[in-house]
Amino acid sequence: MAIAQGFYEEVVRLVYIIVVGAGWAGCASAIAGIKAGAKVTLIEKADMVLGTGLVGGIMRNNGRFTAAEELICAGAGELINLTDKLSLHQNVDFPNHKHASLYDVTRIEPAVRSFLKNMGVKLLLKKRVVDSVVVNNRIIKVILEEEEEIAGDVFIDTTGSAGPMAKCRKFGRGCSMCILRCPSFGSRVSLAELAGVKEEEGQNVGETAGSISGSCKMLKNSIDEDIILELENKGIYTIPIHEKAFAQDIMKIKACQQYVGNYFKNNLVLLDTGLVKLMVPYFPVEILRKIPGFENAIFIDPYAGGIGNSVRLLSIVPRDNTMKVKGVDNLFCAGEKSGLMVGHTEAMVTGTLAGNNAVRSAKGRALLELPSSTAGGMLISYAREKIKTPGGKKLRFTFSGSVFFKEMKEKKLYLIDKEEIAKKIQTTGFTGIFNSRVT
Ligand SMILES: Cc1cc2nc3c(=O)[nH]c(=O)nc-3n(C[C@H](O)[C@H](O)[C@H](O)COP(=O)(O)OP(=O)(O)OC[C@H]3O[C@@H](n4cnc5c(N)ncnc54)[C@H](O)[C@@H]3O)c2cc1C
Repeated sequence: MAIAQGFYEEVVRLVYIIVVGAGWAGCASAIAGIKAGAKVTLIEKADMVLGTGLVGGIMRNNGRFTAAEELICAGAGELINLTDKLSLHQNVDFPNHKHASLYDVTRIEPAVRSFLKNMGVKLLLKKRVVDSVVVNNRIIKVILEEEEEIAGDVFIDTTGSAGPMAKCRKFGRGCSMCILRCPSFGSRVSLAELAGVKEEEGQNVGETAGSISGSCKMLKNSIDEDIILELENKGIYTIPIHEKAFAQDIMKIKACQQYVGNYFKNNLVLLDTGLVKLMVPYFPVEILRKIPGFENAIFIDPYAGGIGNSVRLLSIVPRDNTMKVKGVDNLFCAGEKSGLMVGHTEAMVTGTLAGNNAVRSAKGRALLELPSSTAGGMLISYAREKIKTPGGKKLRFTFSGSVFFKEMKEKKLYLIDKEEIAKKIQTTGFTGIFNSRVT
């Protein structure tokens, strides 16, 4: 009888979390939700997980090192460990950036996908959420393009902030055929917006909205062997740009403001992420091919990398510091969606918190805020506050540079000694917190 009752209690306590969008934020949310004790369904419109993370790669540069170690100490190091394990280069320094690691974008997706499956995440690929049913301020279910319905207790919007295609056309240079592959899988649809939340757009220094993505990728075997040998040896290869025909102004409106400044304007910076990552939003093929060694260069992301790139930061939802979306009682958010935050590590930090809090919310428990003495906690509250200030929507928030890294240094939150970071997390009481089930 005692066993039957215990079993019954366990069954009635099961909670169902639905995560929409399987970029780094959605993957981190799903893992955190499972570890906190929920059944998690992760819905992704494309045929692969990781979203823009499929063509990223840079981790642990500047304050991202601190944030990554904080996640590990707080019991949410799975994705950091995977990207570390699949890093082609570690401890790479480049102008204004220290101790970067570069994960192999050609190997990361299958590794993350099988990790999610082994954790017990129910992964639905090639399924796009196009509608929701809201009753009494709560989302009851989401509706997929094929009219299938998926019900849940709590939902997490991790649909990112790129596009939809109409906005890439309006604010960029057309659909550049980026890794999100909207022509094949459909454009982004925001769950928060479907549920009636009014979203905002980021602005850039020009008068248009959003930001253009800041890097493009080339095929290794389209570039001279000696250049590739040095790139693979050091992780980085730099070429001065003598040709001024390239529109330098584009650097001001790129999403990742940590890679601007004269060095990035006057030099082509190449990083080895399995592909050749070029740290500019786009570069005219006819100019690129005048550079010795690049005569046969071919872009692989975006395919139209000679003229443009994807447009992002077009979708900001109002939220609090627990990552709960304002206006809907059972909706959380993470990643770029949660407010001009750029980066994989940033998506993992916010995703982890959203996943854990989604379970707390379903079980009627108090929600967590990350302590403001941590880089993660500070980023979440800083980004939310700064967006509201005049000019705030022109800012970009990342542990790795721009305004927030400056703030991190001023507040002495930028630490690179792993023991010191572990001690700090211990003093906050957050050591291993994301490893425990929420009861
Ligand atoms: C070209 C490029 C290079 C970058 N390089 C780096 C880097 O080196 N290092 C770094 O830290 N950051 C980098 N970034 C930034 C980083 O990739 C993002 O800030 C971060 O990964 C965002 O994660 P996300 O999960 O919030 O959103 P996204 O990656 O945009 O993921 C959102 C997901 O939601 C899915 N989706 C949208 N709508 C729906 C729907 N209705 N139903 C189902 N699924 C839906 C999308 O298909 C997508 O997979 C780069 C970005 C780009 C574009």
